[in-house]
Amino acid sequence: MTTFAAMFGDGETARRRPVTVTLEPATLSIFGEDGGFGEDGARLDQWPLDELHFVGEAFDGAPVRLKRGAAGQARLTIDDPAFHDVLLRAAPHLRRNPNLNVRKIVGLTAGAAALVAAAIFILLHLTNVVADWLPESWKRDAGERMVTEVLEIMGDNGALCDQPDGAAALDQLTTRLLAAAETIPEGDRLDVKIRVANLSLNNAFAMLGGRIVVLNGLLFNAKSPDEAAGVLAHEIGHVMRHHPSRALMRGIGLGLVFDLFLGGGRTAGFGQAMLSLSYSRDAERDADAIALAILDSAGISGAGLAAFLDRLPDDGDGPGWLSTHPDSQNRAALIRAHQGPQNTTPALTTSEWRALNGICQAAPKG
Ligand SMILES: [Zn+2]
Repeated sequence: MTTFAAMFGDGETARRRPVTVTLEPATLSIFGEDGGFGEDGARLDQWPLDELHFVGEAFDGAPVRLKRGAAGQARLTIDDPAFHDVLLRAAPHLRRNPNLNVRKIVGLTAGAAALVAAAIFILLHLTNVVADWLPESWKRDAGERMVTEVLEIMGDNGALCDQPDGAAALDQLTTRLLAAAETIPEGDRLDVKIRVANLSLNNAFAMLGGRIVVLNGLLFNAKSPDEAAGVLAHEIGHVMRHHPSRALMRGIGLGLVFDLFLGGGRTAGFGQAMLSLSYSRDAERDADAIALAILDSAGISGAGLAAFLDRLPDDGDGPGWLSTHPDSQNRAALIRAHQGPQNTTPALTTSEWRALNGICQAAPKG
């Protein structure tokens, strides 16, 4: 039997009284002392050892605070540094201090979660930073190889088209759009090259380094030069926002950087990766917003882009541009709500538009 001096509060009043506590094999008994309450020597309470709980954290050598049961109101405080050790021997269940452990576990879990969240945030941010930091010349070279690879993947007939009249019309439209892009933030010194590939899918891709490939099928599906101009302006928007390099960086990761530094210049698989990428809704709307700014500045109506989107089914399942550009109906509505300039002119004249549509008619042999 071991006795210690303690302070006791009943939890109902603020009064704390001096007591002695006695550790018995299965109980802790609390006896009143001469504290002026006339309880000298009387047993005030008896707490089963297996119902004891620490209040707060308990450390060897520090005062111990106890309650009876997890919800007990009464409190015992034992200042004697020796008590902690004696108590743990008598009531081993207290070795796993629930308060301490829960706090530790919660602390670790919250800490780990915060760490993971921070790591993800840093990685996402880092991939953007690294993507933006890649040298333009390297992105341009990689983009060219991607164009070649994409055309190989998509079909034997995927030659780049350069029928002269069509190429002249494409140059003219590209120049008009890029001149307009220069007037909006981030649009200066834009390195963009747009080409048409002889493939019948309704699609267009922005690769690394501002290399944009429009498939002939998209020109066929466009009902007007304004529609084609809208799609091109949208792809230029992706380039201006670094969407291709950022998405590729997220998709294939830092291998891109290793390739860069280990001197491989190896980009095999980039084209496939590029084809499987899709942008977030935010990225698409971002590219639409830039497209509208470009079209406004170029004096081209944004109605063409809205009309083109309108004809795409909105089930997210369709082929071509739709599969990489979901949410088309909502985007069309947003574009139509945009107030463009009063005076617009067609993106190309009728004869230029006809020439552009014929750009693949005399694809070079060999
Ligand atoms: Zn897009």
